[in-house]
Amino acid sequence: MTDSQENDSNAQGLNTQAYSPEQWSKIKTVLLDMDGTLLDLHFDNYFWLQFMPIKYAERYGIEDKEAHQILKQASEETQGTLNWYCLDYWSERLNMPVAALKQDIVEKIQYRPHVKDFLSMLKQQGKRAVIVTNAHRDSVNLKMANTGLDKLVDRIISSHDYQEPKESQAFWQHLQQDEPFELETTLLIDDSQAVLTSAKTWGFKHLLTIFHPDSQKAPNTESEHPGIHHFDELIANKDDLQK
Ligand SMILES: [Mg+2]
Repeated sequence: MTDSQENDSNAQGLNTQAYSPEQWSKIKTVLLDMDGTLLDLHFDNYFWLQFMPIKYAERYGIEDKEAHQILKQASEETQGTLNWYCLDYWSERLNMPVAALKQDIVEKIQYRPHVKDFLSMLKQQGKRAVIVTNAHRDSVNLKMANTGLDKLVDRIISSHDYQEPKESQAFWQHLQQDEPFELETTLLIDDSQAVLTSAKTWGFKHLLTIFHPDSQKAPNTESEHPGIHHFDELIANKDDLQK
């Protein structure tokens, strides 16, 4: 790389290690997962792995350990299906007000690092930013109400709208019709390996994972897809980062 090219890439505000200036300039649309990508997965992990087992144990008068085991098994039975993400399903199955219980720990809903800077960079560069999430609309609404994230993107799509999870090929077919995008010019960023694999099968050419979806856990760099730890890796001009 020549000096002038390096200056160019700085001017465009991107990190050449994560994405080359040539590649980046061709991207017109960025499809973004919500939980574990834009928002800290700690909220969801804490809710399901710590908070809910305690509430379930209280509700049914059993030990926390047993409650933990019951929820773990129920989770494993449904993983990868739309039900796993569906608050109505869990409220009915557990006979507990799951959406209301989430309200008790809303202070744990947090942005991941540099997300606001990244989204404002996309806006400046005229790229379309669309959230594509497996989260239930009640979860989406709760998170938007507590973060204002909806004001920073062009559109929010929940896989519940299509009744197909992102792990399914049918999801991408629905998305293609509802929110037309070109595979050559669209980047998908998602912390789920299963979703990225599904998107790759569909034909996506630009995929990135998130190595550090949960701020309270160690990063996971064992991904078959390329990825970033944080969004500052896609912003080369560090002066643009909010202190
Ligand atoms: Mg995710």
